[in-house]
Amino acid sequence: MALIEVREVSKVYRLGDVEVPALSEVSLTVEKGEFLAVMGPSGSGKSTFMNILGCLDKPTSGQYFLEGVEVARMNRDQLAGIRNRKIGFVFQGFNLLRRTSALENVELPMLYSGTPAKERRERAAAALERVGLAGREHHHTNQLSGGQQQRVAIARAVVNEAPLLFADEPTGNLDTRTSMEIMELFVKLNAEEKMTIILVTHEHDIAAYSKRVIRFLDGRIVSDGPAEAAA
Ligand code: ADP
Repeated sequence: MALIEVREVSKVYRLGDVEVPALSEVSLTVEKGEFLAVMGPSGSGKSTFMNILGCLDKPTSGQYFLEGVEVARMNRDQLAGIRNRKIGFVFQGFNLLRRTSALENVELPMLYSGTPAKERRERAAAALERVGLAGREHHHTNQLSGGQQQRVAIARAVVNEAPLLFADEPTGNLDTRTSMEIMELFVKLNAEEKMTIILVTHEHDIAAYSKRVIRFLDGRIVSDGPAEAAA
């Protein structure tokens, strides 16, 4: 069974009387353990597609199966539950709580899932170790560099052992060397922990760390192939 199976998904936004087609009958299968980069010019439908894959929005038509479960027809509460259990999110702007320790930031998703306090702390500390931040648990996020903050965000995204990690321009706010370090961390999580990663990026150098690249244009996938071929 594929981790993600999208069948002829379309999305139309309505602005008053005008219909804006954002996605047109997009189909995609992603197996467990893949590392996929999503590319395409601004306005091509990447965010719309990622919002649907991330259970933040629903398609106008078509089907989306996540681990075999049809999610396109679920209500908001059901979608929130799926997001918390199955998907970790990493964003360009880190989206951490300021003046709060790294450990507390990583504990957050487990608060929502009702994990007991002692287990929360232990699992958060282990996740920080996985991303190379052992010893920095009690630093506040505003005392950390951009690269370290993104590592905290990655620890938060993996702490619930969700099978799927979404990263939206995760290196957009980082310098080149730090970007490479963060991409190497994603490569490690994919290779050693078999995490499935879907990454949105504008940059070929960043997409080159993935194994497969899909490209959007005008709401459709216009190419899909190995990362080397797309470089
Ligand atoms: P990308 O992420 O590749 O820049 P988007 O998914 O944001 O592309 O946008 C795809 C198309 O849908 C664009 O034409 C955009 O203007 C339109 N669009 C996106 N979000 C909305 C919205 N909330 N309301 C109306 N139109 C939207």
